[in-house]
Amino acid sequence: MKRVALLGATGSIGRQAIEIVVAHPELELCAAASGSTPLDDVDAPLKQVGGDLTELLDRAQPDIVLNAVVGFAGIHATLWALEHGVDLALANKESLVAAGELALAAMTRGGGRILPVDSEHSALFQCLEGRDAEQVHSLVLTGSGGPFRGRTRDELSGVTVEQALAHPTWRMGPKITIDSATLANKGLELIEAHFLFGIPYERIEVVLQPTSIVHSLVRFRDGAALAHLGYPDMRAPISYALTYPERAATPLAPLDFSSLTLEFGQPDLETFPMLALAREAGERGGTAPCVFNAANEVAVAAFLAGQLSFLAIAEVVADALSVADGAPARDVGELLEVDAAARRLAERGLPVA
Ligand code: NAD
Ligand code: MG
Repeated sequence: MKRVALLGATGSIGRQAIEIVVAHPELELCAAASGSTPLDDVDAPLKQVGGDLTELLDRAQPDIVLNAVVGFAGIHATLWALEHGVDLALANKESLVAAGELALAAMTRGGGRILPVDSEHSALFQCLEGRDAEQVHSLVLTGSGGPFRGRTRDELSGVTVEQALAHPTWRMGPKITIDSATLANKGLELIEAHFLFGIPYERIEVVLQPTSIVHSLVRFRDGAALAHLGYPDMRAPISYALTYPERAATPLAPLDFSSLTLEFGQPDLETFPMLALAREAGERGGTAPCVFNAANEVAVAAFLAGQLSFLAIAEVVADALSVADGAPARDVGELLEVDAAARRLAERGLPVA
């Protein structure tokens, strides 16, 4: 039996993870947590709504932690798993983006490993498996381009929350859905890929693939590119991470080649500045990615609350990044301070209600 601690059990990833765990005879939930939503219909011996996730993990002693919390709030659980050498199935990309080197150092100390749940990173992980780093030319992250792909800046000025939440290919929680509309999600994923696979930013490319069938590719030095294909369904990467290296069966339909379209395109960095801002933050390093993430969380929450326009999300983030010094954090305490300061800075950039 593999004992799974599921954090963020009531969310989009959490619900799909429960489906995978219930269907697999060798997986069981040993703990489940949410932020504020009740866990009444979740069957686990330990349950916690709100509160300190590391206390729950200490009690549960899981074999694997599936971190499906949304946002920086997932940081302590990510670091707990890495420090304790417990497998970390990581959906909560924000924690790795913000903690960066601190997370990698915790992983080295603890001897843990990260099994990516983000579909692109699961794809890259699978394409890279068993190959030496020197064979790898570059990584190619794919993205759908979100609901506003092909629009001009002018056409984005009045978009509503409802329009931004209408993602063309994935059904996800509200925060990541807005991130997909601004391309901040692809930016977070760029930084996530850098830390997961140790590849410099100039060797990580982003291309658009509107139907989300190609989940990402790895280019190798001989000119070959390996891709991972499948329908956009998070149960596949969740199952892969939870059952690794077994690759258990799932209820997913096989690809039907009579109805597939595989077009590719380039992201429009001027209309969607969040991707370029993320790349800049990643290249600056230190706590710049933490600042990018914190300001984005504040701006997205304000957009969802109807307080901020869609285009202003990137302005809030750009302003916060331009003020923050981005100096590396020596420990988690310092990182928490940087995150809090970036949030205060971003909040000052919001229009007065
Ligand atoms: P969601 O909003 O649907 O769910 C978030 C979950 O986190 C909820 O269960 C909520 O109660 C819980 N939560 C929030 N704050 C918490 C806290 N302080 N302590 C404990 N639990 C807390 O979000 P989601 O779409 O499932 O996304 C979760 C994470 O997975 C995000 O980091 C997202 O970027 C990533 N991800 C999601 C998808 C997807 O398809 N939904 C795909 C790739 C990556
Ligand atoms: Mg993704």
